[in-house]
Amino acid sequence: MKIAVAKGDGIGPEIMDAVLKVFDANKIDLKYEFVEMGKWVFDKGFSNGMTPEAQRTIEELGILFKGPMETPKGKGVKSVNVTARKTWNTYANKRVFQSLHGVDTVFSKAAIPIDLTIVRENIEDTYGGIEHMLTHDVALSRRFITRPGSMQVIRYAFEMARKKNARRITCGHKANIMKLTDGLFLDCFYEVAKEYPELKADDKIVDDLAMKLVVSPDEFDVVVLTNLQGDIISDLCAGLVGGLGFAPSANIGDHISIFEAVHGTAPDIAGRNIANPTALLLSGIAMLRHLGLMENAAIIENALLYTLEQGVRTGDFGDRSKPALNTTEFADAIISNFGKTPQMGAKEVLPNKKITPTVFKLEKNPMMVSTEMQQEKIAGVDMFIESSEQPEVIAQRCVHHGGTKFRLINISNRGTQVWPTGSRYTNLVNLYNVRFEGLSEQALTQLDIIGLYVTLCAEFKIASFELLNMWNDKKAYSLAQGQ
Ligand code: NAD
Repeated sequence: MKIAVAKGDGIGPEIMDAVLKVFDANKIDLKYEFVEMGKWVFDKGFSNGMTPEAQRTIEELGILFKGPMETPKGKGVKSVNVTARKTWNTYANKRVFQSLHGVDTVFSKAAIPIDLTIVRENIEDTYGGIEHMLTHDVALSRRFITRPGSMQVIRYAFEMARKKNARRITCGHKANIMKLTDGLFLDCFYEVAKEYPELKADDKIVDDLAMKLVVSPDEFDVVVLTNLQGDIISDLCAGLVGGLGFAPSANIGDHISIFEAVHGTAPDIAGRNIANPTALLLSGIAMLRHLGLMENAAIIENALLYTLEQGVRTGDFGDRSKPALNTTEFADAIISNFGKTPQMGAKEVLPNKKITPTVFKLEKNPMMVSTEMQQEKIAGVDMFIESSEQPEVIAQRCVHHGGTKFRLINISNRGTQVWPTGSRYTNLVNLYNVRFEGLSEQALTQLDIIGLYVTLCAEFKIASFELLNMWNDKKAYSLAQGQ
């Protein structure tokens, strides 16, 4: 079996060398093809942070084991970590957080065990990075949440929960505010939940979830969230079990999967051989299991747990009165403990499975469509207009543009209605959302919308517009606050 390996930037090469040293010492039947990815590849002029050969190798082998990679600061350059996850559709980011014996935390001291898995959607949400300046004062980020994308990751979370005999699966969301985006994610969650009656499925608003995870983390088992909320909540969970040095992550897709640590390149300690390789090693252990290398995974994990139990530590954790080992010495300590069994959390050493890696040769991009066509009708349009005038002046100047087809319904600013009713205490910015609806029951056409656009733009700068669709009798758009 062969996998692609990218060492990464900052502490990446140091911790990757330490992990591969542990793998090699365990005589794992695995070959590595090193690929060029990371900040240094950007610097060589490859704008997506990887060479075409690296892309080809990863697509051929289907598994990438990677160190952290730096995203160059400044405009126009996207994170290679996010590019990799999105390009290869590794839609589920699975992060396991477990109390580790020997790693003291508030919870371990209170004898509260933590065994939590966060499944974070990995492709969509604000991570699309689709952003525009609508005026010099107003930036817009488009947050895509899709039904097929949500179904894919939620189904993965339920399957994983079933396999791990989980008692509970929780959806974290903000559907009380983002009714269409997070509402869609939550609907998908309960739709999939029907197929898993043995699992207790519930949901929590993400702020409440954050508080409850800190107060009583042992009540949770599997939590599934959208991308940004999942990112924040999983770092919170890393803190519960001892910090970023102990947080592994697997990015799972149908064709390609990526294994990496949650933490970044730690530029503050890079090049000193003092970083903690545990998170990357735990990610590597998850990869070995994914590849069926159960025996190697269990021996290495038991050795790691045993090492931690002995109080062996790198500088970022543990009993400060004991000397800290450097990265290489820590790896050597793990190697010296192969065959030892930890007191807590020992893994059963099962034989390796014979898994023949499947190589997927895709001729076309997979198209994911999950919803039936519903009866659609254009009911109106939101015109986003740049202006620093007062709402009633905008209304006066807009109302006649409706002509025989449109009626001016309301005007809002940053999502709050300011006309026909509103409050003088609502602060304004120079971008209004002027909502027009069709005058008759008859559906509007796209040409009608363009007609309105043409007449309005003679008077205003229109920053963008958005159609107001009706599906059957349901509004496929949100109302303004106060509407
Ligand atoms: P970071 O995770 O690199 O560091 C945060 C803090 O944690 C630092 O004090 C660091 O020293 C410490 N730390 C992290 N990993 C450690 C380890 N293994 N052992 C000991 N201490 C460790 O976060 P950051 O500073 O915000 O980001 C630095 C760079 O990493 C940025 O360019 C960012 O874009 C990138 N990044 C990459 C990934 C990835 O590759 N998946 C993830 C996060 C951040």
